[in-house]
Amino acid sequence: MSAMRRYLPVFHDVLGASVLVVGAGAVGTRKIEALLAGGARVTVVAKELSPAVGERAARGELTVLRDAFHPDQMREAELVFAATPDRELNRRVSAEARRRCIPVNVADSPEECTFLLPAVVRGQEFTAAISTGGRHPGAARALREFLEDHRAEISVRLERGRRRKRIAARQGKVFIVGAGPGDPDLLTVRALGLLRSADAVIYDYLVPQDILSLASGNAVKICFARRGRTAGHGAIMKQGAIHEAMVRLAREGKSVVRLKSGDPLVFGRGGEEAEHLSREGIPFEIVPGITAAMACAAAAVLPLTHRGRSSSVTFVAGHDTGEKGGSAVDWSRLPKDGTLVVYMGVARVAGIARELAGAGFPLDTPFAIVENGSRPEQRVVRGILSGLSRTALDSGIRSPAILFVGRTASLLPFNDTGERSDELVAQGL
Ligand code: SAH
Repeated sequence: MSAMRRYLPVFHDVLGASVLVVGAGAVGTRKIEALLAGGARVTVVAKELSPAVGERAARGELTVLRDAFHPDQMREAELVFAATPDRELNRRVSAEARRRCIPVNVADSPEECTFLLPAVVRGQEFTAAISTGGRHPGAARALREFLEDHRAEISVRLERGRRRKRIAARQGKVFIVGAGPGDPDLLTVRALGLLRSADAVIYDYLVPQDILSLASGNAVKICFARRGRTAGHGAIMKQGAIHEAMVRLAREGKSVVRLKSGDPLVFGRGGEEAEHLSREGIPFEIVPGITAAMACAAAAVLPLTHRGRSSSVTFVAGHDTGEKGGSAVDWSRLPKDGTLVVYMGVARVAGIARELAGAGFPLDTPFAIVENGSRPEQRVVRGILSGLSRTALDSGIRSPAILFVGRTASLLPFNDTGERSDELVAQGL
């Protein structure tokens, strides 16, 4: 066991060790080269040698036994490698080595090994070993290549880690991160990395547990928001508490992830938070996320722009302002020939339907509502403007949902208005 520990992580620990390698083809040669580079005393059992091994043998750098394999050849060995194309022979080598308690590695056959050879990346200040237990050598190699490409960055991060230990009060930072619409697969790689390394996560109620569970187990997780109340006095209090917490945690030297649903800069108050942080002199960074409009459009196969149908897309907030119960949006100024995307609108969908009609949107304009876009409970309902209020009520659509209005909102292919869809034109119809 102690021998295994000694040899497992890095190959250059073989300095001075007696190693028996059975087989000197391409795989065996790679192992032999690495062992010699690590200073091992290598004995090769092989009837035929690769040119490289032949040259090394001629130079006296290793011992060659041109016989068939025999267990006696292991007598001196501290490590054994089997790398022949003959699986049965490899198995025998492995069995004999095990019987003698000599660590053995069989190429491409993890179940015959008592130790595995990890892919190794060496930087100036670190050696990283990657293993998939012999099951996915391709994946281990890909990861090694990735680490090799990022060697410099890893060194910087190691240095940062060392300093973190040395300097108690490091400078904190706030990352205002978009969590996307809810499906963890739609997080950005950067968002995932930041979540995993965060000291604290301040999240919105719309961010699902599936995503939160990706955060580091040690991170403090805080949620101030209550479902529903997005405007008025309660919201201001809540926003104040969020600002205060971000600043306090960052001043403690923490890496703070302010996790918001969708994109932080789309109806997410990300701008206000960034303003506050810059006023307080706290370093911050904004990491974009997939906004609900994009995710819901993809879910409903609804092109936000489409040649000949919509050449603009407008995001509007449909909720009331909390004052007169009306919308802050001047619906009459919105383009009627584009796609309208209404966030936070379902609670007052009847009012929105009225306002759109009053603003001159034709009553046969298609609409689509996507509830819980990208989540397991996702639903899509469609219709035309005259039936919007009724349909939303009958289908019991609840927040979170996005309302799309425009000629792109009907079902594909678009051939409902006598206009030919590209597909039909292509078919010569
Ligand atoms: N910053 C977020 C929006 C926050 S406002 C973003 O970029 O997506 C909250 C509103 O977003 C909800 O009322 C709803 O209209 C919409 N929303 C968020 N997630 C949603 C989802 N998974 N499906 C449908 N609508 C969603």
